Order: sequence, then C-alpha cells, then structure tokens
Amino acid sequence: MTESSPASSRRGLILINTGPGKGKTTAALGTAFRAAGNGMRVLILQFLKGSWHYGELDSALKMGPDFVIKQMGRGFVKVGGAETDPEDIKMVEDAWAEAADAILSGDWDLVVLDEINYAIGYKMLDPQAVADVLRCKPEMVHVILTGRNAHPLLIELADTVTEMREVKHAYQKGILAQRGIEF
Ligand code: ATP
Ligand code: MG
Repeated sequence: MTESSPASSRRGLILINTGPGKGKTTAALGTAFRAAGNGMRVLILQFLKGSWHYGELDSALKMGPDFVIKQMGRGFVKVGGAETDPEDIKMVEDAWAEAADAILSGDWDLVVLDEINYAIGYKMLDPQAVADVLRCKPEMVHVILTGRNAHPLLIELADTVTEMREVKHAYQKGILAQRGIEF
C-alpha cells in the first residue's frame, strides 16, 4: 500500500471480533503479527485464559520485547451470577486494571483484549468502565476486543466489528482441539 494518505488521516481504531464461529482470537493474532511487522509495539492480554499452553505464547517470546502476550486468568470459570468464584472476579479486575493502564499509557500501539467479551458477558466486568477507557484512549492506539456476545455499548463505540459465523466446526464431528490450530 502506498503512503499517500496524509498523516492526519492516521488514527487508532477500536475493533471487535465476535460471534459464534471460530477465528476471533486468531484473527486478532494475525492483526498483531501484521502490526509487529510495521514496527508497532503489541500487547495482548488474555482475560480468563490460563490453563492451556497456547502456541502463541512461545511465538511471542521469539518476537522480542515489543510483542508481549500475557495470560491473566486460570482457564476455567464457573459462571452464573452468585456462583462466580470471587478469585476469578479478582483476576478479571486485575486484568482490566492492567489493560486500562496499558491503553492509557500510550506505551503500546496495539492492545488486544482477548476474550474480554466473555468476562463482560459473565458480568465479571462492567462494560461501561471499558467504554469509558476506550473513549479517552490516546488517539493513535489501536484496541481489539474478542469473544462471543460483544456488549451493544462496545459495538456502538467500535469502528470495525466482525461477527464470525459458524458454517461448520470439526468439533461437531467429534474431532478434538488440534495443536497449532486451536492451541
Ligand atoms: P480461535 O482461538 O481458534 O480463533 P475463537 O477465539 O473464535 O477461536 P473462542 O470462543 O475463544 O473462539 O473459543 C476458543 C476455542 O473454542 C478454540 O479452541 C476454538 O477452536 C473453539 N471454538 C471456536 N468456535 C467454535 C465452535 N463454533 N464450535 C466448537 N468449538 C469452537
Ligand atoms: Mg478466542
């Protein structure tokens, strides 16, 4: 692509990858890979995740200090209002505190909030608090939010929203998660 557009037209975007089909996290990782190639600093914070060792954690280590992925959860979350484990809520609160700091600091060109839509959907995180931070983010910072059932407030705020539609998934044939594809 040519660099013909004036610098003033460059701006940070808010993107959401949502919907029931596969590809929300991996599309965000693809964008992160693209951003890194443009010399951008990338931080990926994974809400709720923690028990599985995903391949991207090791890929990130090979990318160097400007490409960081952190798991902020412990993998299994008991959901449903009062039954939610306070420990999981605490981990989401800590993840959000770190995410808000990272976005507002301007230290990162792209911040991915992976699976944050689930944390909001499970009522572990207030969508209004997320919207407040997104509204006052530094202009050039890009933010991607992933997970099913994105909150309407955040969809409204976002610039680009993609809904993954499930046409078919190997899981339906009883094929379990495959290394390199699912984790
Ligand atoms: P991926 O990380 O592969 O891009 P995702 O982010 O779109 O998937 P999540 O809701 O985060 O999906 O769920 C992660 C796991 O669930 C992955 O192992 C993924 O393959 C699997 N998964 C995603 N969509 C489906 C589906 N429609 N049916 C069954 N499993 C799915
Ligand atoms: Mg995902």
